[in-house]
Amino acid sequence: MASTPTFKNFIDGEWISSVSRETFENRNPADREDLVGLFQKSTPDDVSRAVASAKRALPGWKSTPAPRRAEILYRLGQILIERKEALARDMTREMGKVLKETRGDVQEAIDTAFYAAGEGRRMFGETVPAELPNKWAMSIRVPVGVCGLITPWNFPMAIPSWKLIPALVCGNSVILKPATDTPLSSVHFVKACEDAGVPRGVVNLVTGSGQAVGAPLMSHPDVALVSFTGSSEVGRAVNRACADSFKKCSLEMGGKNAIMIMDDADLDLAVDGCLWGAFGTTGQRCTATSRIIVHRKVLAEFTEKLVSRTKALKIGNGLDENVEMGPAISEAQLQTVEAYVEIGRKDGARLLTGGRRLSGKAYDRGSFFEPTIFGDVKPAMRIAQEEIFGPVLSVLSAGDLDEALAIANGTVYGLSGAIYTRDVNTAFRAMRDIEAGIFYVNAPTIGAEVQLPFGGVKQTGNGHREAAWTVLDIFTEWKSIYVDFSGSLQRAQIDTSTHTSGTSRD
Ligand code: NAD
Repeated sequence: MASTPTFKNFIDGEWISSVSRETFENRNPADREDLVGLFQKSTPDDVSRAVASAKRALPGWKSTPAPRRAEILYRLGQILIERKEALARDMTREMGKVLKETRGDVQEAIDTAFYAAGEGRRMFGETVPAELPNKWAMSIRVPVGVCGLITPWNFPMAIPSWKLIPALVCGNSVILKPATDTPLSSVHFVKACEDAGVPRGVVNLVTGSGQAVGAPLMSHPDVALVSFTGSSEVGRAVNRACADSFKKCSLEMGGKNAIMIMDDADLDLAVDGCLWGAFGTTGQRCTATSRIIVHRKVLAEFTEKLVSRTKALKIGNGLDENVEMGPAISEAQLQTVEAYVEIGRKDGARLLTGGRRLSGKAYDRGSFFEPTIFGDVKPAMRIAQEEIFGPVLSVLSAGDLDEALAIANGTVYGLSGAIYTRDVNTAFRAMRDIEAGIFYVNAPTIGAEVQLPFGGVKQTGNGHREAAWTVLDIFTEWKSIYVDFSGSLQRAQIDTSTHTSGTSRD
C-alpha cells in the first residue's frame, strides 16, 4: 500500500513543517477511506514566520516593474494549463465536485492569470489638468503591502487565484490560508507559483484551522490587508478584527440567490438552468440557486418538469464522468442540510423530492444527499431566508414581476439573481430592480466570468468587487501626485485669477 503523502507549508521559499510537528488529515468526501494527504497543523508561530517572510520579500517585489511581475503570472497560467487534468482530479478527490466542474475551477485560475498578466501593462492611473499653470496632476496605484488571504473550500483553486494573482500583479506579498477541507489544491497552486518563478517569500502558504492560523493572520500588525471569502458569520469576525487596527479588509460572503421564472419563459431552458444552478457543486456555491420564484400561471407545469428531471440526476463519486452531482463536503455540512430539511418540513413546506441522505454500497463511505426540492415555500420561512449550502431548492410563486422581485430582494443577502423571460421589457426592469451584485437573463445564478466584477450587496459583502479591473481597487492604494514646475509657490484654491474666494485643502 502506498504511504500517505505529507504536504508542507511554504514559507520563505521553502517547503517546511509546522513548528507544531503535527498534521491533520484530508479525506475524500465521496469515500472517507480514501486519505488524500496529511497537512501541517500550523500555529500562530508559523503565521509569524510567514508574515516575516512576506515582509522581507515585499520591497524587492514591489520595485519589480509590473510588466515583469505579469510575465511570471503569465507563466503561471501556462503551467496550470499543462497540469489542468491532474489538478482537477486531485480537486475532485479532496472536495467532491464532479470532474467537469473541477476542470472549470482550474480554468478560472488560468483565466485569472492571463487577465492579470495583461493588467501588468495597464493598471491605469489618471492624469488630469492641474488648476494652476506649470503644474502636473496625476494618480497612480501602489501596492498595499503584506496581504492575508483566507479562503473557503468550495472553489479550492479559483478563489485563492482570485486573490493571490491580482495581489501579486499589484506588487503585494501574500500569506494564503486555505480551508482545512481543501488544502491540497492550494499546495498545488502555490507549487505552480514557485515553478513559474515567483521570488522567494512573495507567496507563503500556511495550512491549519481558522482559530490557529486565520485569527493570528488577520490580527497580525504587519498584515496590511485581509481578503476573506467564506461565511457571513466568520466574515463578521474578520471585519471586527480588522477594525481595531484599521486594516483594509475585503469580504465575500453568503448568498440566497433566486431565479425568477415568468409565464412567457422557455420552460425547458429554465429547467436546465435550475438544475445546474441548484445542484451544480451539490448546491455548495455562494451563487447557487436556492430559491426559484415561478409565475403562478406556469407553476404546476414547471414544477412537474423540474421534479422529474431532478429525480433522474445521477449522484455519486465525481471522478466518474457520468456522475452529475457529487457528495457534500463533509459530515458536518450534510448534517446542516438534514437540519434544514427538518426545519422546512416543520415550517409547512411540502417536500416534492429528495430530503434524505443516500445510503447503499455506492454511498455509505461518503456524505451523499438526495437533490431536494420543497414546494409551497413562503418567503418568510427559514429555508427561504437562510443560506443552506447544500442541494436544497425552495419553490415559491408570484403573480407578476413586481411580486417576484419583492420576494427575490427580501433577504439579507444580495449576491446573484436571474430571470427567465422572452420579454425584453420584463428583463430590463428586472436588471434594474434586482438587489444583487450579479444578474443573469435566461441563464442560472451561477457562471461568473473573470473579466466582470464579482461580489454582492447587502450582507454578502462590504462593497468590494473581486475579478475584473475592480479587484485592483482591493489590492492597491491610490497615490495622488502633484508636480509643480513653475519655480514659485503656487497655492491651490487661493492663487487663481478666476476665483474670488476659497479655502485651501491641505
Ligand atoms: P467559513 O467561513 O467557515 O471559512 C472560510 C475560511 O475562514 C476558512 O479558511 C476557515 O478556516 C477560516 N476561518 C474560520 N474561522 C475563522 C476565524 N475565527 N478567524 C479567521 N479565519 C477563520 O466558510 P466555508 O464553510 O469554508 O465556505 C462556505 C461559505 O463561503 C458560504 O457561506 C459561502 O456562501 C461562502 N462563499 C462566498 C463566496 C463569495 O464570493 N461571496 C464564494 C464562495 C463561498
